[in-house]
Amino acid sequence: MAQMPDVILIGAGLAGCECAWQLAERGARVQICEMKPLRRTPAQTADTLAELVCSNSFRSDNPHNAVGLLHEEMRALGSLIFRLADQHRVPAGDALAVDRDQFSADVERHIRQHPMISVVAGEVTELPLQAGVPVVVATGPLTSDALAAHLVALTGQERLAFYDAIAPIVAAESIDMQQVFAASRWGKGGGDDYLNCPMDKAQYFAFVEAVVAAETLPLQDFERGVRYFPGCQPIEVIAQSGPKSLRFGPMKPTGLDDPRTGRWPFAVVQLRAENRHKTAYNLVGFQTKMRQAEQRRVLGMVPGLGEAEFLRYGSVHRNTFLDSPRLLDPAMRLLSVPQVRFAGQITGVEGYVESTASGLWVALALHAERSGTTLTPPPTTTALGALVQHVVDTSVPDFQPSNLHFGLFEPLADIRDPLTGKKRDKPMRKEALCKRARPALREWMRTTGLPSACG
Ligand SMILES: Cc1cc2nc3c(=O)[nH]c(=O)nc-3n(C[C@H](O)[C@H](O)[C@H](O)COP(=O)(O)OP(=O)(O)OC[C@H]3O[C@@H](n4cnc5c(N)ncnc54)[C@H](O)[C@@H]3O)c2cc1C
Repeated sequence: MAQMPDVILIGAGLAGCECAWQLAERGARVQICEMKPLRRTPAQTADTLAELVCSNSFRSDNPHNAVGLLHEEMRALGSLIFRLADQHRVPAGDALAVDRDQFSADVERHIRQHPMISVVAGEVTELPLQAGVPVVVATGPLTSDALAAHLVALTGQERLAFYDAIAPIVAAESIDMQQVFAASRWGKGGGDDYLNCPMDKAQYFAFVEAVVAAETLPLQDFERGVRYFPGCQPIEVIAQSGPKSLRFGPMKPTGLDDPRTGRWPFAVVQLRAENRHKTAYNLVGFQTKMRQAEQRRVLGMVPGLGEAEFLRYGSVHRNTFLDSPRLLDPAMRLLSVPQVRFAGQITGVEGYVESTASGLWVALALHAERSGTTLTPPPTTTALGALVQHVVDTSVPDFQPSNLHFGLFEPLADIRDPLTGKKRDKPMRKEALCKRARPALREWMRTTGLPSACG
């Protein structure tokens, strides 16, 4: 491809390969700049494109859960990654797991053999902003240091994070509202913006003991020596520094009057709404590296969370990502330099499936722009639309990456089953959300003129 490319794309991981392929199939000349095989990120062990750096699974393929629904939507939208994942599938129950070597080799073959795609090996350290050619940055959670430094200069120091600090999120209807009270510290803001889970002295010290003893996930080699920012420390690290530390940190009770006692509790876990519909709440300041089973057990000791349904577990790991709600528009363009857009994990989606979906969405939006139109994202009743909305949702002040989960979807208008009039239980709600998503995606594809790859 001697001519000037129509699009320059940096990073040939899952998002980059999906994005490049979709654009090339729609007639764009795409130049991919990928630092492999000259350099690898600390997590990579192979030289192939679209490497699966850890698990070989794209998680559940069951179309009755959120990520399985996203699989279905990706297939309908003609995803290359999903077509090849299906072809290289290995038995794994209801999960879509693949032979990782064959899968990546096949993605690489498709990319390298495409007549509209060229691949240039080399680390990009500054964005090539030449002659108005759109640039897609899909350099992932371990974007190289030099490019990350350049992005900091472009977006501002406080707008690019190098570690995520993810607090668990629980479903609102699984919280025992009898045990919690709504209040803001000192009555500020809306006065009842938070749900507070109060603890007495005995409950608090038993909880701290359980936190300190809980099993945590080991650090990756390249994560050792992490110095956590104050405010981003995992709760077990805070608890290890002294039995009262949590009470002076995220479990501080001051200014929180419990209406049942008229007093401040001894300690409190605060829950903050995760979306404007208040269908999901995060445990404020409760980022943790506890294993998931331990999170269920230990956090289940918190009053009100005994039966909590975890929509997302807490985690802390090395992850380069943008404060996307403040930086990007729904087409994932940088507001300050619209020639530049981002795709994949660096936008604040989390996981192989979500990163791939992000790459596909960016390709569709960019293709529309090149054709002189604007593509609105799918509605938030669909899996892809819910994922895009998560990335640009400005109502969330402290943006953190997320897997797709049902808490990101537009809630059901009616929590009751229209046939029986009874409140829907969890499986029924999930079923209703999936049922609503399918026609919504079809309708969006019809109105935007996107053909379905599933006929
Ligand atoms: C250690 C680790 C383990 C993970 N495990 C899982 C898991 O098991 N399951 C899961 O669902 N998700 C996992 N993730 C999260 C995430 O889904 C994957 O990292 C996923 O590959 C992200 O896709 P991506 O396309 O955004 O980035 P990547 O797949 O990482 O692709 C980015 C590409 O950009 C290239 N690149 C980086 N900087 C430059 C530069 N300056 N110039 C040129 N090229 C550059 C890289 O070489 C790479 O090929 C993990 C993340 C990490 C860090």
